[in-house]
Amino acid sequence: MNWSKQFRIKPGRAVRLADRDAGWTDGFKDKDDALDALRENVALMSELQNLLYAERKHALLIVLQGMDASGKDGTIRHVMSGLNPQSCYVRSFKQPTPEEMGHDFLWRIHHVVPARGEIGIFNRSHYEDVLVVRVHDLVPRAIWKRRYDQIKAFEKTLTLNDTVILKFFLHTSRDEQRARLQERLDDPAKRWKVAPSDFTERKYWEAYQEAYEEALTRCSTSAAPWFVIPADHKWFRNWAVSQVIVETLKGLNMKFPKPTYNPADIRIT
Ligand code: AMP
Ligand code: MG
Repeated sequence: MNWSKQFRIKPGRAVRLADRDAGWTDGFKDKDDALDALRENVALMSELQNLLYAERKHALLIVLQGMDASGKDGTIRHVMSGLNPQSCYVRSFKQPTPEEMGHDFLWRIHHVVPARGEIGIFNRSHYEDVLVVRVHDLVPRAIWKRRYDQIKAFEKTLTLNDTVILKFFLHTSRDEQRARLQERLDDPAKRWKVAPSDFTERKYWEAYQEAYEEALTRCSTSAAPWFVIPADHKWFRNWAVSQVIVETLKGLNMKFPKPTYNPADIRIT
């Protein structure tokens, strides 16, 4: 089964999130079954990362987006746990600083994209500039409207320069968000994760879903596809993201570089 295809948004296809079940868990008997499969993928990702680093032909950029409490942090913790920090890093994009605001919206993004051999994970991304910015009218409509094309051109430049881009939308339901926000209020170890603004932000649920639909519809390209991951079940989400990464890295047919010398000629004294 080609799972990547299952979750990938075909270029040009209009996305309607309401038609997609956030609680979907096909392919698994139970949670333990998925945890075993995740463990296997985490081990595979480690091997494939080593090849990526050795070969230095491709960079891998992983973009994580989703509503508040959709599991961006959890995905990083559980799926990326086997990666070697030597050639992998996470960038989280918050409200732009005054310096960042002085530049075009892609400036802060471009200078932290992964180099060949590296894996860069974006916790939020340049898509915030057509999401939160659109929902809250942080810039005029005419400005954010033209950003879809700018994003596509930017991502095209990256992919033409050997960056493999995987964009994951962690699709959670409104009910699941409520449960997770409540849990964050109830659990003293999770309270730090929420601010009062997260609860007011929930009022904009519909506006965010629409903004996501337009971003997913307009910016899923064959070179830089969007994947809509059913994310109400954390165990399914983790497995699904790992599966797409493994399938993609395997598809690169990477090889260890041939040495430029003959190992047989060398005698270690
Ligand atoms: P968190 O990911 O929970 O740490 O929150 C980061 C916050 O920064 C979120 O509320 C984002 O919507 C916000 N943010 C990220 N990028 C931008 C941006 N370009 N413009 C405005 N707000 C942003
Ligand atoms: Mg948050």
